Amino acid sequence: MIDKILDYQNLDGELIKLEKEFESNENKKQANLMIMFVKNATERTKQLNEEAEKLVKEIAKLQEVELKGISLVEKLSKQDIAKLDDVELKELEQKITGASKNLKELEKRLFGENEKVKRILAEFETTKKKVHIARQKHKEHKKQYDEYVQVAKPKIEKMQKKLKAMEKDLDPELFEKYRELRKDGVFPMIVSLNDKACGGCRTNLPSSTLERIKQNSYIRCENCRRIIYDK
Ligand SMILES: [Zn+2]
Repeated sequence: MIDKILDYQNLDGELIKLEKEFESNENKKQANLMIMFVKNATERTKQLNEEAEKLVKEIAKLQEVELKGISLVEKLSKQDIAKLDDVELKELEQKITGASKNLKELEKRLFGENEKVKRILAEFETTKKKVHIARQKHKEHKKQYDEYVQVAKPKIEKMQKKLKAMEKDLDPELFEKYRELRKDGVFPMIVSLNDKACGGCRTNLPSSTLERIKQNSYIRCENCRRIIYDK
């Protein structure tokens, strides 16, 4: 009874190894990372677009205000100074100074906004380049992964078939326990008794449990739940 499931476990161990390789394939990981990168970059590009649109509107508004300011200064400076008295002259001077100050402030803000636009454009360009590289990398990794799958998949399927055929000769109750352990990621599920300890987790077994191995063909480790047989 134990021999058959031990043979099964040997082959199953190879399958587990292949399955793990399959799951943790580096090319698959890299290809997925590249997909993630492109996805994030697309999201960022959308954000940049929105920011740029907002800035363009702000700049247009500022430019409008600037034009109004310029025409006001022009209008003020065209006034016939000779006709003005001291108070009016002083008032005019103050108006012009105020308008110029505002215009300078406006210019500064426009410059700042333009700088922001430049930064957005630069980031847009770098993102575009990075996306291009990521797409290429994705293609390469995907190609290598597909090639790997072509080899690995039939191998795995062949092994699964062979194991399936072996299952009918196994003790159903024992196999059920085996499958539970496999599902929980335990390997090996069946271990030999090592002196008085579990061959899996090396925990010493109580004598009452050891007594039972004489009557049963196997016992369970109380610590790691592995199936223990006496060799
Ligand atoms: Zn154990």
